[in-house]
Amino acid sequence: MAHASTTSAASLPGERRFTGLPVSGGIAMAPVRLLGSTVPEVTARVLAMEETGPELERLHAALAVTRRQLEAIQTQVAGRIGARDAEIFEAHLLVLEDVVLLDEIRRAITEQRVNAEAAVDAVINRYASALAAVGDEYLRERAADVRDIGHRLVRVLDGAGEPGDLSTLREPCILVAHDLSPSTTAQIDRRMVLGFATEVGGKTSHTAILARKLGIPAVVGVHAITRSVRNGEQALLDGFSGQLIAQPTEHTLFQYGQLRQRRVAFEERLRSLRDQPAVTLDGHRLLLAANIESPADMDAVSSSGAEGVGLFRTEFLFLNQPKFPDEEAQYRAYRTVAEAAGSHEVILRTLDLGGDKLPVGQSSPEPNPFLGWRAIRICLDQPEVFKTQLRAMLRASAHGRVGLLYPMIASLEELLAANSLLEESRSELRRKGQPFDETLEVGVMIEIPSAALIADTLAEHCQFFSIGSNDLTGYTLAVDRLNERVAGLYAPTHPGVLRLMQMTIAAALRRNRWVGVCGEMAGDPLLVPLLVGLGVHELSVTPASLPAVKYLVRRIRLSDSCELAKSALAARTSAETLKCCEDYVRAAAPELLVRGGE
Ligand code: PEP
Ligand code: MG
Repeated sequence: MAHASTTSAASLPGERRFTGLPVSGGIAMAPVRLLGSTVPEVTARVLAMEETGPELERLHAALAVTRRQLEAIQTQVAGRIGARDAEIFEAHLLVLEDVVLLDEIRRAITEQRVNAEAAVDAVINRYASALAAVGDEYLRERAADVRDIGHRLVRVLDGAGEPGDLSTLREPCILVAHDLSPSTTAQIDRRMVLGFATEVGGKTSHTAILARKLGIPAVVGVHAITRSVRNGEQALLDGFSGQLIAQPTEHTLFQYGQLRQRRVAFEERLRSLRDQPAVTLDGHRLLLAANIESPADMDAVSSSGAEGVGLFRTEFLFLNQPKFPDEEAQYRAYRTVAEAAGSHEVILRTLDLGGDKLPVGQSSPEPNPFLGWRAIRICLDQPEVFKTQLRAMLRASAHGRVGLLYPMIASLEELLAANSLLEESRSELRRKGQPFDETLEVGVMIEIPSAALIADTLAEHCQFFSIGSNDLTGYTLAVDRLNERVAGLYAPTHPGVLRLMQMTIAAALRRNRWVGVCGEMAGDPLLVPLLVGLGVHELSVTPASLPAVKYLVRRIRLSDSCELAKSALAARTSAETLKCCEDYVRAAAPELLVRGGE
């Protein structure tokens, strides 16, 4: 446990700059809030004699709260993952019952007259160090348990809440964390969290995607940032260049003030295009739709000028919940979205749980969750969960234009099995006399290389494809989309990825199917002309990115884009293609390439 007085980087004066990967544009200025640090700061205080009694009571109350917290987590983990994983909390509970340890803490309060936090800190540290010094592996693990429980107890005592709990935030801040899970990020209140910086993460992690949706700047992959800044120090976060600047000078603040003004003016220009169509200079019409994670996003969808929803990541309805939403709750959510979209289509994607999308506070029990039990695999193994969702989606189709999309399809067998459960769901609704759209379109996400390679076969059993370039890039190049160490290898312009996309589009066109792209590539202005040239019909992007994409579409020609796509498909490296894309966008809309859009 760190004492406030021993925090290292904290005492460094003057401006300090830390660089990472920019994943969500924007500039924010606020005090740093270190999140998820499991090591709380402890300040020792000498107690007056009469304070020791109440301090003991405070300790006992905190012990009771900690015990209840642990029991609740234990039950949750046992229900969701399994009894064996829940056993670890048994060990933590035992520490709380340890008479010798508790006696020592009480004595520190009554005899040395220190506050409860400092007493717990000192005794736990001593205890854990003694255990860690023994050569026995079992006891070393017990040392970690003891430390863990000590940290939890101190957090309860000082009211800091769970690590990763954003509900305790009372002032606007820049969050700094080792990592933020998508379920934690989904709880962000943008009035309190003006931006965030993490040590790990990639551009297409769902955490980064959520930051773009929230419209807050975010920088990931900032090496050792949690050890380099301290709670409460002023920081400026530049989500365009990927910098966190601690204690910025007056000069830096002035420069950023100017940049922010230019950005505001440019955004005003973009907003004026809201009701204009996405049509190229030579008259080619594209559909620009929005990606959403919740019905609450529909306001942003309408103000972005999107023509419907190209991807509703419905799994976010299942995160941050004690149990899965039932058919009625899901139906209400899907119906709200379908009605809010009016005459535009809404594509509801079936559950894509797994990978990095896990309920709050859970890490995957699988060694390799992106190659594991995820998305359609979970749904086909749990037909009742899947059919509940399918029925809710079908019922929502009676209230608007709804399409349905299966994620992570790798084989024809999976598509046929999903379609057959869909057919069963339709029959169940017909039997109950519940209305739905009999002509509802069914689509397949192309995000696994095998799906792209058999797109011709898949096209016979669906009405459209949506290319999930985030996963398609990751799986094709064997690059983890969350891992900042290999972020440099994550290249959607890799010739291998582009050829798989071309195969998909060609197979779809042969059978008169439409193709969209709903991965982050579609919202990157640099890559938009390339996608247009490859022949996609729809781009589905986060609402915050949509105005810039439309601005660009209205400045390019389909004929030039086709030439660009031709060169990209013949290119030997991703860098060659990226250079062509950059040259093209620089000529068509240079203002999009300048940081802050000036
Ligand atoms: C994708 O993989 O490109 C996609 C849109 O799905 P998700 O980001 O939710 O995995
Ligand atoms: Mg995906």
